[in-house]
Amino acid sequence: MPEADHRRAYELIDRLAVERSLGPAEYEELVRAFTPEVAAYAADRAVRERRRVYGTDVYIRGLIEISSYCKNDCLYCGLRRSNRSAERYRLRAEDILACCDVGYNLGFRTFVLQGGEDAAFTDEVVCDIVCAIKAAHPDCAVALSLGERARASYQALFDAGADRYLLRHETADPKHYARLHPAELSWERRMQCLRDLRDIGYQVGCGFMVGSPYQTAVALAADLKFVETFRPAMVGIGPFIPHHATPFAREPAGSVDLTCYLLSLLRLIDPALLLPATTALGTLDATGRERGICAGANVVMPNLSPTDVRQKYELYDKKAHAGSEAAEGLAELRRRMEAIGYRVVIDRGDAKCLD
Ligand code: SAM
Ligand code: SF4
Repeated sequence: MPEADHRRAYELIDRLAVERSLGPAEYEELVRAFTPEVAAYAADRAVRERRRVYGTDVYIRGLIEISSYCKNDCLYCGLRRSNRSAERYRLRAEDILACCDVGYNLGFRTFVLQGGEDAAFTDEVVCDIVCAIKAAHPDCAVALSLGERARASYQALFDAGADRYLLRHETADPKHYARLHPAELSWERRMQCLRDLRDIGYQVGCGFMVGSPYQTAVALAADLKFVETFRPAMVGIGPFIPHHATPFAREPAGSVDLTCYLLSLLRLIDPALLLPATTALGTLDATGRERGICAGANVVMPNLSPTDVRQKYELYDKKAHAGSEAAEGLAELRRRMEAIGYRVVIDRGDAKCLD
């Protein structure tokens, strides 16, 4: 790309770092301007912002994958109900609590309970689990990522003590959403869930895959604008990775480089965001976690699920769950973060309030 075009991208990045806002067409320009040079420029600014707000702290969350049953049929996901070859499992309340106890001793102060939309996890069941975790570990935050539920259900889980809810919006472009999901799933409903969660008082996380089939620069620009206006506490982004038993089996994986560039832009949109360097990044690139942190991320979510179920929670092929992706590999993760100048801390890791 000629230097003059870089200059325009640098200008937009500088403006984003000051104003925290751009127009949709400007975000689109930035997405299209992606080159290694522009990404390095954005990463440099993003790292300065995250150091200003979070220093060199890296927050960890213990991820417990509570069920691989799902009633939904998202076209990209290995847990979709049509995947008859998926091995299904469901953790019992006592298994989940045991994971939290192990995690607590390792230094985790946030537990994320994630799963498919499994009817066995009624409000009563999840509320009891949340209450029990809070009773055993009152200094910990509980985050849920259990998909779409009724507003009254979200309220009940919040009243039981859940602090955070992660529900990726998947794409801010309704037409794109319709190509990634069956007709019975609605973009409007997903967005309504996010508004309900925020209104109830959760720290809300949204997010999207990078490089999902049919994704365009316009759709990614809409994702950035959505984050700017919705103002979530967290944003989870990771590259799309195909799963062999889904309709997208032959689609190419998303790009680690583009994901890191978008992490940098998100950091500039909101310097206080909680931004994980996701497992998908670590799956496509052995140094993906480090690259995410060096682009502006400040959270990692090692796997705390019982080891015998980890390979069954197969959202995509070859999903990483060993080494520093695993909670038992925390010492390795600490070393790897220290090697790039960061420090894994024992902390709930709430978003800092800049206002
Ligand atoms: N069922 C809940 C939901 O959909 O919100 C939570 C679990 S779901 C597996 C968590 C996230 O995994 C999804 O929001 C999606 O973005 C991501 N995911 C699913 N399939 C993926 C794939 N093939 N590649 C990358 N990410 C994927
Ligand atoms: Fe189920 Fe979530 Fe996978 Fe969709 S993305 S099929 S809701 S687990």
